[in-house]
Amino acid sequence: MMTFSGTSAHFLRCDLQTHSPLEPEFTPGVDHKSASAVKDAAKRFVDAAVDAGLDAIAVTDHNSTAFIEPLRSATAGRLVIFPGIEVSAADGYHVLCLFDPDTPIKTLQSLLIKLGIEGGKERQPDGAVRLADARWTFGEVLNEVDMCGGICIAPHVRRDNGLLRSAMAGEIRVRNWLTPLLLGVEDDRIELKPGRFADDCMLNTRDSYRHSVAIRSLVDHHASARTYCSVL
Ligand SMILES: [Zn+2]
Ligand SMILES: [Zn+2]
Repeated sequence: MMTFSGTSAHFLRCDLQTHSPLEPEFTPGVDHKSASAVKDAAKRFVDAAVDAGLDAIAVTDHNSTAFIEPLRSATAGRLVIFPGIEVSAADGYHVLCLFDPDTPIKTLQSLLIKLGIEGGKERQPDGAVRLADARWTFGEVLNEVDMCGGICIAPHVRRDNGLLRSAMAGEIRVRNWLTPLLLGVEDDRIELKPGRFADDCMLNTRDSYRHSVAIRSLVDHHASARTYCSVL
């Protein structure tokens, strides 16, 4: 495991949103009930991340913590794992909820229960990801995660269920974008051009959306799924 000293900034190669092969969209799938199949999948997952040159990953399955412990067991000190979940807030926005590496799994499970997504209720009967209960809007989810000691990142900001894509525009979008509890945003656009709404937000040049984020991550899902981020 890497250690740091001093006060200068350290740059890590991270992927702060990963989905495990336990997610139903993954093909070929993994037999959840087979401990050895899950263990093998976790080993392959860690191998792939290390081969890709990553120093750290967050595992952020939709409403599920099932892959976190298998991953922790598979790392053998080769990779930092941030335990996480991707939650769909009641107003539709997706939120990545990340925790310190040594956070007990129970902390994340308790959060899911509080949001109304208990075991077995992660998905709708048709397989769609279940939203958090009605009171858990984007802002309320961020508050709760903060109370639990975690941090939040808004993923895929310009795609469906992203902060800049949402039908919810105007003041509420500005408020959600500017909340100090939002510690990062994720975008899949590498080349930004001034003059376009989402690009200006990402460039931090649009007046009403101007803010300072602790982590700004850039993801190229199509190329390598690697995220480069600065940890301040
Ligand atoms: Zn996701
Ligand atoms: Zn998402």
